[in-house]
Amino acid sequence: MAGKRGLIMGLANDKSIAWGIAKALGDAGAELAFSYQGDALKKRVDPLAASLGSNIVLPCDVGDEASIDALFDSLRETWGTLDFVVHAIGFSDKNELRGRYVDTSRANFTLSMDISVYSFTAVVQRAEKMMNRGGSCLTLTYYGAERVMPHYNVMGVAKAALEASVRYLAEDLGKDGIRVNAISAGPIKTLAASGIGDFRYILKWNEYNSPLRRNVTIDDVGGSALYLLSDLSSGTTGEVLHVDAGYHVVGMKAVDAPDI
Ligand code: NAD
Repeated sequence: MAGKRGLIMGLANDKSIAWGIAKALGDAGAELAFSYQGDALKKRVDPLAASLGSNIVLPCDVGDEASIDALFDSLRETWGTLDFVVHAIGFSDKNELRGRYVDTSRANFTLSMDISVYSFTAVVQRAEKMMNRGGSCLTLTYYGAERVMPHYNVMGVAKAALEASVRYLAEDLGKDGIRVNAISAGPIKTLAASGIGDFRYILKWNEYNSPLRRNVTIDDVGGSALYLLSDLSSGTTGEVLHVDAGYHVVGMKAVDAPDI
């Protein structure tokens, strides 16, 4: 990745999926910029960025168009062009990430779709203008987009819309040689995940039922992100790559599976 410059959005702390991705890219020689939401996170993001040799740490609330514009204006001034962008952002009211989907409120449905879905399109809209052929955009999704998972509720509906938007964005930007993909990560204990009801049970279930019989780490996701953001994946766009220890291929485990 030497000579490539990219923006990482969604770093909250060293448990964040964005951190696993940033480490893999940094180790591979990419030059990185980071955006964070709110002053409280800046003091966590600054040292992490510095440890990868970056001092470009900029605020951005993706719910605010002016804030996204300010981020990209600032990046354009500093770098001029951009080779890749990582969108590792999602939000929903945690009171609605438990119980029944049918009880979702209109206000939280709209907010979840805005922050977790539309924001990727808003980011790609700006990134496209700074990218040359070979540019790559990546977002994070979850299996709850494809199948019903306990408590994931409105986030499952949002991730389904996010995955559909990856396909539409891939078609729009493909003629300019810019690729758009998603990673569907297995459950990982992060700040965002701690808002989901019974998350520990979901982790255990995934561990027992995945072909690899383990949960994935942010480094597993980082390795696959490196592939999707590099020229190694030059023929791949509109893809949702599962990094979930294979969980998504299993219909049912055998009763006598040795390790259940
Ligand atoms: P995290 O809490 O570390 O990261 C979520 C990030 O979203 C935070 O940095 C937060 O500041 C940011 N964010 C929320 N609202 C924002 C806003 N309005 N403006 C700007 N940033 C905002 O958790 P994570 O698990 O690393 O989440 C990253 C992505 O990975 C999310 O899209 C999440 O849905 C997805 N994902 C997570 C898992 C998991 O099990 N942890 C699995 C699959 C997909």
